[in-house]
Amino acid sequence: MGAVSGSTAGPLLEAHDLWKSFGDREVLRGVSIDLSAHEVVAVIGASGSGKSTLLRCLNLLEPIDDGRILLGGEDISDPRVHADRVRARFGAVFQSYNLFPHLSVIDNVTLASRVVRGVSRRDAERRGMELLERIGLTAQAKEHPDRLSGGQQQRAAIVRAIATDPEVLLLDEITSALDPELVTEVLELVRSLADDGATILMATHEMAFARDVAHRVVFLDAGRILEQGTPAEVFGAPREPRTREFLARFM
Ligand code: ADP
Ligand code: MG
Repeated sequence: MGAVSGSTAGPLLEAHDLWKSFGDREVLRGVSIDLSAHEVVAVIGASGSGKSTLLRCLNLLEPIDDGRILLGGEDISDPRVHADRVRARFGAVFQSYNLFPHLSVIDNVTLASRVVRGVSRRDAERRGMELLERIGLTAQAKEHPDRLSGGQQQRAAIVRAIATDPEVLLLDEITSALDPELVTEVLELVRSLADDGATILMATHEMAFARDVAHRVVFLDAGRILEQGTPAEVFGAPREPRTREFLARFM
């Protein structure tokens, strides 16, 4: 993954006391979260607890109402920062509809490198084909996304997200829309990125995967972080009754 720019001391990504409302609904109520380089953090919590909003605020897809976000020591929540430039430092994958339907798989994978990074088509395609080879999709490079299975599409979306060597990868329930038999191939790709040292913040309902791959688990409850710790701590010995209640649904 990309090199850390700016200050190398402290966490790569730091969010302090984030507040976010939609109308009169407070969705994030003072969330502070940090992510060190090469760390994998899983955000768990009930539907509606604010996981997606948190991820979208971190890469400036949603404006925050209050708080501060630092990436590599730079205050990216400063209204004067160029949001597109900051967003290009993140890779993001969502639940579904990640790929541009009118572009081939290879064009999807290389678009950001060519347009945002100014990489030549030839170099972008060489790298893109390497990435597609890694996920066994070279034969589908020229196909449109609708010719791929849901699992193949999500794996292509992941390699598209890493094609620009982002500093942080944000993954928002990327297997939730998949048929169960396609989940494993997507999670295995995430695992291999984690093994390679990627910095990943993922919202997930895949508790077994979070337990296995995440270094830290954060439980979000109604817009607040109620508890966090190692997977052994949060899954093995949750302190808060609400965490226990939430986890009981997955047992
Ligand atoms: P999660 O990802 O944990 O399910 P979300 O962050 O998607 O939670 O949503 C948290 C709350 O914010 C929900 O009540 C949702 O309806 C609301 N919400 C999210 N996005 C918007 C939006 N763009 N406009 C209005 N309400 C929103
Ligand atoms: Mg969500």
